[in-house]
Amino acid sequence: MKIKFLGGCNEVGRSAILVDEKIVLDYGLRPSNPPVIPLGGGTILPKSVIVSHAHLDHSGMVPSLMSTSTDMAPDVYMTPVTGDLSLLLSRDTIKVGKDQGFAFFGEEDVRKMERHMHTVAYGKRLTLDGSVRGDYEFELYNAGHIPGSSSVYLRKESENISLLYTGDIKTDESRLMESASPGDFPASDILLIESTYYDREHRNRKELEREFIDSIKETLNSGGNAIVPCFAVGRTQEIAMILHSYGLTPYIDGMGLSVYNLFKNHSPFLKNAKALNDAFRDAHFVNSKRRKKALSEPSVIVTTAGMLNGGPVLYYLKKIHEDPKSKVLLTGYQIEGTNGRRLVEEGCAEVDGEVVKVNSQVEQYDFSAHAGDSELKELVSRFYRNGTGIIFTVHGDNTEGFATWLREKYGCDAISPKNGEEFEIE
Ligand SMILES: [Zn+2]
Repeated sequence: MKIKFLGGCNEVGRSAILVDEKIVLDYGLRPSNPPVIPLGGGTILPKSVIVSHAHLDHSGMVPSLMSTSTDMAPDVYMTPVTGDLSLLLSRDTIKVGKDQGFAFFGEEDVRKMERHMHTVAYGKRLTLDGSVRGDYEFELYNAGHIPGSSSVYLRKESENISLLYTGDIKTDESRLMESASPGDFPASDILLIESTYYDREHRNRKELEREFIDSIKETLNSGGNAIVPCFAVGRTQEIAMILHSYGLTPYIDGMGLSVYNLFKNHSPFLKNAKALNDAFRDAHFVNSKRRKKALSEPSVIVTTAGMLNGGPVLYYLKKIHEDPKSKVLLTGYQIEGTNGRRLVEEGCAEVDGEVVKVNSQVEQYDFSAHAGDSELKELVSRFYRNGTGIIFTVHGDNTEGFATWLREKYGCDAISPKNGEEFEIE
């Protein structure tokens, strides 16, 4: 089996893995401005694409794999939620591209992706070529990261070799998601594991929630606005559920509402559909006309984008950045090259093409949907005990550190691949 890494190595963003030159596992973009796409963008012609989940850094470039000149196009496999989300997000990417001056695909490609999409349930073994017994079979497992997220098992019959790609994975519960159950994953010869939180432990979630809520209440009491930038997919809904459970009613602005409306149609992929519905039933929704009102009183505003790379959050940042009573509460990891990372590291951010100093308070909360350090290590040790021979560490700022740790701890074959590297495994 040949594995070529086209992106997502020693970085978070643009995850893209090519297997035997014909199967793609994830095809994402790094959501910086402008976005960065996988190596060889536009030149690969896979037969099949398996998408782990609908975050742009995993799914955002899939429509670009649809060749528009002929009807040849790869089959695309994912869970039903990931399918619906991918269509929504792809269309949004086209819109954002028009504003920001990039175009990786068009509406015709998205329609083609829709026609070639096969939705797959968790735990159902399928062949990639549609035959009863093809050379490649695969299976998706709940990855606990966002609704519909999957870890992917792929087996090549003729070489009797298998891999497990974790995608983004969480083995602890959140309010929105049941955790992944790695105990149910099949043993595999090769493991491709995300490394986002290698060497970093998550805080206790309940304590973190209380600190977050106390900080928001303090801002409201002092007459300020609490701006909570969130991903539209997953984080907005998780944060709305947390706020609701503490009796706070947020304004919600941006695509998080459309994503919620889509989640409602897929309740089996949610841990507690009722709690999510209650949170959204009580929230106030804002569009571009009502933004002024949301800021006219002390308020908590949950809005996109989570890393401040565009979206309504920039409107709010522009209005509050000189107000020391107001606060920006970041809710997760900020990828290198994003506006959010700049805010954390330099105390300034780009708004309307201008870099402004932010005098409001900035806080960062780790509401991560990824496994922390000990969860990652527990996951690898489980696979290692079950006979996994080769481990690739991907999707992280310190994948080399993780691979080194694994080699020293287990004496195993752990590799931190580089973008563009190819490995042949027998
Ligand atoms: Zn993700």
